[in-house]
Amino acid sequence: MRKQLIAGNWKMNGTIEETKTLIDGLLAGSYDDNIADMVICPPFTALTTAGKMLQESKIAVGAQDMSVHSNGAYTAEISSGMLLTVGVSFVILGHSERRQYHAETNQLVNAKAKVAIDAGLTPIICVGETLEDRESGNTETVIGQQIDGTLSEFSADLLSKSVIAYEPVWAIGTGKTAPPEMAQEVHRFIRDRIAGIDKNAAEKIQILYGGSVKPDNAKSLLSQPDIDGALVGGAALKADDFLKIINSL
Ligand code: PEP
Repeated sequence: MRKQLIAGNWKMNGTIEETKTLIDGLLAGSYDDNIADMVICPPFTALTTAGKMLQESKIAVGAQDMSVHSNGAYTAEISSGMLLTVGVSFVILGHSERRQYHAETNQLVNAKAKVAIDAGLTPIICVGETLEDRESGNTETVIGQQIDGTLSEFSADLLSKSVIAYEPVWAIGTGKTAPPEMAQEVHRFIRDRIAGIDKNAAEKIQILYGGSVKPDNAKSLLSQPDIDGALVGGAALKADDFLKIINSL
């Protein structure tokens, strides 16, 4: 039985004050960590604050991206080692907004994921089709390429240290959620694809769904057999909503 993971992607939201308020709200709530783990991914500037506030708690901290390089002349980049020093244990990689606005490729995401795992961080590797891909019947082709590319040369060991997030691009921030059965179909497809690398690892790997997950649709999505949690954007910015999502399990 796979444990669920509920991850909050704050995107470019959260001053230090807002971060403190949101984390205070999360700490005031409760959830059963036998059923699900929680991770929040604030912007880089708030990671130190989040790391300190959550040091003694069961809530983990993640970053929204990291450099493929470990140090040097890479202006504005943040390395895996730097993330570790502020208490980060997860990192989102290949989010569709990174792919769209920063031209991130499967190859780069693959390289970053290997660097992250090597450093001891758990990568949350994002894949997802655009509306055009879906409407032209190319969902499985695109997702298959993204899985093959981002997990290139992955061993069973690397898979056991990774999390996948399926996020249909057309569902992110739009209020349109994939119907649970449609999401389940893609999650099963992803798991079967990963089984081509290692069957056992495919059964164990957590595959999260992302795309307008809210308190009122979380239960129907998270109860699908191959959906092992959620990557939540907008609804992660309200402590009550995020707690309702994790408590809908
Ligand atoms: C996301 O940014 O990963 C996301 C799923 O956003 P939202 O929940 O707002 O659609």
